[in-house]
Amino acid sequence: MDIAVVGCGVAGQAAAILFADAGHAVTVFERFVEPRPIGAGLLLQPTGLAVLRALGLAGEALASGAVIRGLQGRTAGGRIVLDLAYADLHKAAHGLGIRRSVLFDLLHGQLKQSAARLVTGCEIVDVDGGHLVEKGGRRHGPFSLVIVADGAHSALRTHLMPEARAPLYPWGCLWTTVPDVAGVGASGLLQQRVRGTTEMMGLLPVGNGQLTLYWSVPAAAAPDPEGFRRAALALWPAAAEAIEHAVRADAFTHATYRHVALPRWSAGPVLFIGDAAHGTSPQLGQGANLGLMDAWVLAQALAESADVPAAFAQFAKHRSATVRFYRQASHLLTPFFQSRLAPLGLVRDAFLGWGCRLPILRPLMTTTLGGLRRGWWSSVELDAQGRYRLEA
Ligand SMILES: Cc1cc2nc3c(=O)[nH]c(=O)nc-3n(C[C@H](O)[C@H](O)[C@H](O)COP(=O)(O)OP(=O)(O)OC[C@H]3O[C@@H](n4cnc5c(N)ncnc54)[C@H](O)[C@@H]3O)c2cc1C
Repeated sequence: MDIAVVGCGVAGQAAAILFADAGHAVTVFERFVEPRPIGAGLLLQPTGLAVLRALGLAGEALASGAVIRGLQGRTAGGRIVLDLAYADLHKAAHGLGIRRSVLFDLLHGQLKQSAARLVTGCEIVDVDGGHLVEKGGRRHGPFSLVIVADGAHSALRTHLMPEARAPLYPWGCLWTTVPDVAGVGASGLLQQRVRGTTEMMGLLPVGNGQLTLYWSVPAAAAPDPEGFRRAALALWPAAAEAIEHAVRADAFTHATYRHVALPRWSAGPVLFIGDAAHGTSPQLGQGANLGLMDAWVLAQALAESADVPAAFAQFAKHRSATVRFYRQASHLLTPFFQSRLAPLGLVRDAFLGWGCRLPILRPLMTTTLGGLRRGWWSSVELDAQGRYRLEA
């Protein structure tokens, strides 16, 4: 099959490699002349790690990243608001903190070794039948199948599926990577500090003695390194080295996020995957993992059926419940951490830490963290080695 993939990000690259390895003729279109990742580091879950394992990249990812054993959030006063451990899922289970550039290079190296063709500096603005239309009017194709993986702010989604909703969250964050001078990474934890719903800082170990630091800011905020410094030091004095380094380096990326909801996954020969299909706020650390899983499930569906509508239907059957759950759960949780709704901060501080210990809520939270939910009422288990098992 002739397949076009729009977007050379996490989801697009993983999909293109899997399709090319299955013998399809694949062309990836990327708007940047030099494809590159934007942002600092992220947390891979057992789901995302399983897809990297299937791609033969898990060993290098593990060697370059930092094994994460759990998540701990506290208020400025030290009260626990989140305390989750992967060990609840299986004693060997873990996440992986990894720099975006490392994950990108692994996927990009594999893509370049595959038979997929990469066309860069090519912004796709329309799909007409099976043809892609580049900005400036040049046409590419025809293709039997077009996979749109152009990210949360997808312009193709707006154009091809105008009824899709993708409102911007009012809050985003600044993020950067700093040296872990104080040895925070030794905890093996993603740590957060919060004050009310307007201040939140996180430190994620990402390997090689480095930490990704993120700091909540309104989506429309102007850069204010000194304001960040003052507020962050007051919120988390013990993280002073990381904060001061971040201010000195002043290499922040300002991220904004969208709550994306499509009425359906596909339109004719076009299927949306990754953030283009289901962008969320990053509260649950799932976006890249969901994109990797989309790629895997779609490759399996195409291996089972050469009939495109049947393969799309099979894909939607497998992905819809999971994606719906993570969209809803992220959306529900976000205002408790990033909003101007101060009472929600009080509710969070009073009940969430306690909820993390409750026999009913804790399993819901840990399976959510691990990427294992199939909806509000069901989840899957890890295998005997504590790994996520991909269905063939
Ligand atoms: C602050 C923050 C923290 C996060 N933390 C985590 C985390 O801990 N764990 C996790 O799993 N996820 C996390 N995420 C989410 C994760 O970053 C995204 O879910 C993931 O990057 C989405 O991958 P994607 O391939 O769908 O899109 P992207 O990575 O955005 O890639 C889209 C690609 O398409 C290209 N493109 C766009 N438009 C066009 C066009 N018209 N033509 C051609 N090319 C185009 C872009 O240049 C880009 O290369 C976080 C996100 C943010 C903002």
